[in-house]
Amino acid sequence: MSLQTIKQAIADKKMLCPECKKPVKEFEKFVEMTASIWDGAGDSGHETKGSKVTLICGNKPCAWKERTEFWANYIDE
Ligand SMILES: [Zn+2]
Repeated sequence: MSLQTIKQAIADKKMLCPECKKPVKEFEKFVEMTASIWDGAGDSGHETKGSKVTLICGNKPCAWKERTEFWANYIDE
């Protein structure tokens, strides 16, 4: 379940902000995307869980915030 993955990555400080390289502190507006959204998207090169979320760095003064379906790219494994 991708919501759980995001929550866990943030809790483990593995979700990193690309601007300041610090752990992302918050997220909002998580949505699971249905398969129909992917029809014709043609973006099969990306690994996604089929969900979209707004990531918020939260480490002041960094104001990075991004709405993305490729949130897995920010998880540092
Ligand atoms: Zn940041």
